[in-house]
Amino acid sequence: MAYNTQPTASHFVNGTYLEDTDGELIEVVYPATGAVIARVHAATPAVVAAAISSAKAAQKEWATKSGTERGRVLRRAADIMRERNHALSQLETYDTGKPMSETLYVDATSGADALEYFGGLAGALTGEHVNLGGDWGYTVREALGVCVGIGAWNYPTQIACWKGAPALACGNAMIFKPSETTPLCALKVAEILVEAGLPAGLYNVIQGAGAVGAALVTDPDVDKVSLTGSVPTGRKVYAAAADSMKHVTMELGGKSPLIIFDDADLENAVGGAILANFYSSGQVCSNGTRVFVQKGIKEAFLKRLAERLATAKIGDPMDETVNFGPMTSQHQREIVMSYIAKGKEEGARLVFGGAKIEGDGFFIQPTVFADVKDDMVIAREEIFGPVMAVLDFEDEEDVIARANDTEFGLSAGVFTSDLTRGHRVIGLMEAGSCFLNSYNDAPVEMPFGGSKMSGVGRENAKVAIEHYSQVKSVYVRMGDVESPF
Ligand code: NAD
Repeated sequence: MAYNTQPTASHFVNGTYLEDTDGELIEVVYPATGAVIARVHAATPAVVAAAISSAKAAQKEWATKSGTERGRVLRRAADIMRERNHALSQLETYDTGKPMSETLYVDATSGADALEYFGGLAGALTGEHVNLGGDWGYTVREALGVCVGIGAWNYPTQIACWKGAPALACGNAMIFKPSETTPLCALKVAEILVEAGLPAGLYNVIQGAGAVGAALVTDPDVDKVSLTGSVPTGRKVYAAAADSMKHVTMELGGKSPLIIFDDADLENAVGGAILANFYSSGQVCSNGTRVFVQKGIKEAFLKRLAERLATAKIGDPMDETVNFGPMTSQHQREIVMSYIAKGKEEGARLVFGGAKIEGDGFFIQPTVFADVKDDMVIAREEIFGPVMAVLDFEDEEDVIARANDTEFGLSAGVFTSDLTRGHRVIGLMEAGSCFLNSYNDAPVEMPFGGSKMSGVGRENAKVAIEHYSQVKSVYVRMGDVESPF
C-alpha cells in the first residue's frame, strides 16, 4: 500500500478530516525534486476553536478510564503503525526528503515505540500513600487537560508521537500543529489512533505556521504546550505560555560538542562523527557539530572521514540504497549555504564538500571544515544542515571548558578507550542527552532533552510522565480537628 500525498483534508478534528479553504494556502514541496505534492490550508480561527472545544469535551471522559484501557488503544495504534511502516516511511520521505534508508528505521518505528512504551506505562501510573503518624495522606496523578504539541520539520511522525503518546497515556487530549513545511505525516498518526479506538477529539491535528501555533499557545482552554523548534521560537512560546501559567516542554536547538580523544578507536570515532553530523542531512537538533579532535589523531581522523564521506550515496531518497538526501526546504538550503560561505570567509579550512548539488532538489554536499576556531560563527550558531566544524584540542581540561562555552546544552559526546575518563568528562558536560562512544541514539526508554537554552523538560522515558500530569495531594485526618477558636 502507498498513501496519496494529497491528504483527504487539511485538518483532523473530532475524529475526522476537516477542511476550511478560507485558511491560507500551504503548498507541500517534495524536497528531492521541488515538485508540489499536496496543498493544505492553515487553520482558520473556526478550525482552532473546533479543535480546542472537541479536545476539551473528550478529555474529561478519557481521564476517567483506567490506565490499562487507555494504554490498550495506544498499543493497538503502535501495531498498526508497524504494519504500515513502509507507506508511512514513504510519506515521511515525501514530507521531509529524508532517504528511505532512514525513514524505514527511525520515524514510524520510533513513533510506534513511543505509543507502545507509554501504552504499557499507562496502567502503571499510580499515586503514593504517605504515613503521617496516625493521620495519612495520598497522592493522585492527574491529567493536565488539553495539551498542545507544536512540531519542527525534521521528524514529523516521530514528534507527533513523542508528544501524543505520553499526553494520551496520562489522560490528556492533544492538539498537534505540525510544522508548515511538513504537514502530512501527523494526519496519518491521527487517523491511526482513531482506527485503534481513540475516541474522537482526543488527538486533533491542525495546520498552519507561527500564527496558528500562537493562537493555540494563548488560548485559555489549553493547559500545556510542548514545542519542538528553534531557540528564538522557544523564547516566544515560553513567554506566551507563562501569561496563563501553562505547563511547558521546550525541545530546542543545539550546537553540541563531540570530543574525540586520541586513544579513541578511529573507525568508531569517524562513524560517530558522521552520525553526529550527516544523518538526515544534518537536520537533527542533537547533532554534535563542534567536533573537538585531540591533536595526535587529527590528520588521521580527517583523512579517514574524507574517505568515508566520499562513499556517501547521494540522490533519489526513494531509492533504498541512497543514504544522503536533500535539505527539507529551499529556504533551509539557502541558510546552510550562507553558513558555508561564512566559514570560508572566516578562514576555516574546507576539507570536504561545500557546494550545492545542481538540479531541482535542495541538495548540499556533506561539508567539513577543519582548523575551526571557537569564536567563528560556524562554531557558535546552530546551522541545521550537513556542516561539520572540526576544532583541535590538546588536553582534557581545556576541551571541557571550550565544549561547555555555549548558550546551548542539548547534547554532548565523548569517544575514548579510557572509560574512567569517558565518564569523568561526560559528567562535566552541561548537556541533557549525552553519548559515550556513540552518538545520536534516542531510544524511547531514555529521557531526551536539553539544558541551558536548549530546553525545559524531557521527552520519552518515565520522566515524560511528570511533564504530562500533575499531582494532587490529599491529607486525611483520622481524629478530631483541633482549631484555635
Ligand atoms: P521553528 O522554531 O522555526 O518552528 C517550530 C514550530 O514552531 C513550527 O511548527 C512553527 O510553525 C512554530 N512556531 C513558529 N513561531 C511560533 C509562535 N510564535 N508561536 C507558536 N508556534 C510557533 O523551528 P523549525 O525550523 O521548524 O525546526 C528547526 C529547529 O528545531 C532547530 O533549531 C532544531 O534544533 C529544533 N529541533 C529541536 C528538537 C529537540 O528535540 N530538541 C528536535 C528537532 C528540531
